[in-house]
Amino acid sequence: MMECVNILWFRNGLRFHDNGSLHNATKDTQAKLLVLFIWDGETPITINSKYNKVQFLLECVEDLEEQLAEVGSKLHFIRGNPVDVFRKLSKKVKIEKLCFDQNCEPIWLERDNAVKNFCASHKIEVCERVGATLWDPLEIIEAHGGTPPLTYSQFCHVTKSMGEPARPWPDIKLADLKFYHFSEDVLGDLRVHLCIPTPEELGFHKEGEECKLYKGGESRALKFFNRRVEFEKEAFLDNSFLPNRRDPDILSPPKSLSPDFRFGCLSVKTFYWAIMDAFEGIHEGSPSRSYMIVSQLIWREFFYVMCANNPFYAEMKRNPICINVPWYKDDKHLALFETGMTGYPFIDAGMRQLKKEGWLHHIIRNALSMFLTRGDLWLNWEVGFKIFQTYLIDDDWAVNAGNWMWVSSSAFEKALNYSYSLDPRVYGRRIDPHGQYIIKWVPEVAKLPVEYLYAPWTAPIEVQEEANCVVGKDYPAPMVDHDKAFARNRQMMLDLQESLIMTFKEAPSHIRPSDEEEVKNFFRICCNESS
Ligand SMILES: Cc1cc2nc3c(=O)[nH]c(=O)nc-3n(C[C@H](O)[C@H](O)[C@H](O)COP(=O)(O)OP(=O)(O)OC[C@H]3O[C@@H](n4cnc5c(N)ncnc54)[C@H](O)[C@@H]3O)c2cc1C
Repeated sequence: MMECVNILWFRNGLRFHDNGSLHNATKDTQAKLLVLFIWDGETPITINSKYNKVQFLLECVEDLEEQLAEVGSKLHFIRGNPVDVFRKLSKKVKIEKLCFDQNCEPIWLERDNAVKNFCASHKIEVCERVGATLWDPLEIIEAHGGTPPLTYSQFCHVTKSMGEPARPWPDIKLADLKFYHFSEDVLGDLRVHLCIPTPEELGFHKEGEECKLYKGGESRALKFFNRRVEFEKEAFLDNSFLPNRRDPDILSPPKSLSPDFRFGCLSVKTFYWAIMDAFEGIHEGSPSRSYMIVSQLIWREFFYVMCANNPFYAEMKRNPICINVPWYKDDKHLALFETGMTGYPFIDAGMRQLKKEGWLHHIIRNALSMFLTRGDLWLNWEVGFKIFQTYLIDDDWAVNAGNWMWVSSSAFEKALNYSYSLDPRVYGRRIDPHGQYIIKWVPEVAKLPVEYLYAPWTAPIEVQEEANCVVGKDYPAPMVDHDKAFARNRQMMLDLQESLIMTFKEAPSHIRPSDEEEVKNFFRICCNESS
């Protein structure tokens, strides 16, 4: 007789803490637990990623494998299409339940529907739990009458009416569980890796000097999380909050948790409640907790909800929430941007860091995305989204595309606001007046006096020669004149605004102001811009 198993299928929620799927797979059952990770070679992470991100993911899986090894068990790392894998497994064991965390982004829909259909036809119970978000994005949409809340403020309104997110699931002691693992001889027709593979074994190779700062894995993420909570507490004691945003530090090792949230080695609920509880502990009885202290997590949630039923969310033309902007197509400009040779050291530094470390501070992401789109180059945000998707270790489909649409003024409530841009000659100076970030990433300009680091072409030629940085020879001249480019882009955006006002009824619904205040703001912006 075949052994009965419940399968815990790890996808993005690569952790054991706050794991509802683990609870499902082990509650009230005689079946043993079989733990799987499937590398399919088809999904976005396996197609569009570079070395750093794949390495981060594999480190996360390896960490799970090590935790299981401590209790004498094993994680099965199998290559192949998930339905094929489950079909082959179902011939070796009797699968009672398949448990996994919800991936609400439509990019996973085809895979998940195929697996669910397979399970239905093989009488396998499917248990899908919300693990990547604070609330179930689909429930938020339902609570809002079947469409996503149109703006961030509306989003907050709806989620408040739904009550606070659930508390994290209690921990389960792995040592108390009964596991099932295959012996090697049974696994013949499955492509199983006996150890977690390296990126090279999966066909990913370094293309330059890739060297990420973050190591993946739940164990490290939890240590990092504790340090981060202490950091947030210090801010609360100082009567402040969001310290990462308040004092941006683009030079020190980052304190970010976003790669851990992206791969789910840290639970977003665990972080949310740690921050809320810490605030309550410090400000006992004072103003009640508000979304303000976790606003970035709420933005993350907002983008997840926005993408949930929208398969074209990461595109411009077919995307119902995105304005169709007549961006330029200029491969030469794109190549200069992508190779970090724009002639603007702050921008080039960012692109070079991204390729080497797979990481950028939010400030730098803002600078790059603004420069590529409505700030300077007027190139389509979709190409920027793809560059970030390829290199960022925390690349998150919902959040990445959402931010590109936001910065490029293509969607959401600030869509038609074109009152400012970031100046690549000035923006970085405020945060890094001595240009240390540029010196680190753009060695060509490193010997220039500090006042010229952000705009090397403004240095007198003798100063350039003295610093071995003659612009046009040792380092490129700026690819566009920022002032002229911004004036031109601004005009194009204004023209677009006007044409949208004329055809307001046809404007995408998500960019239509949703309440009186927003209508007032909208017309104020338009009037100011055109005067
Ligand atoms: C063009 C562009 C692309 C981006 N792409 C991604 C991406 O692919 N993945 C990603 O996680 N973040 C992305 N961000 C958002 C942001 O830059 C990172 O989440 C942030 O740098 C993480 O640092 P932190 O953990 O210190 O953030 P904190 O400010 O401490 O925020 C805590 C968490 O909230 C979430 N968060 C923070 N900022 C945002 C935001 N603007 N929108 C939505 N969620 C947010 C992240 O999960 C983050 O870890 C992008 C931003 C821009 C401008």
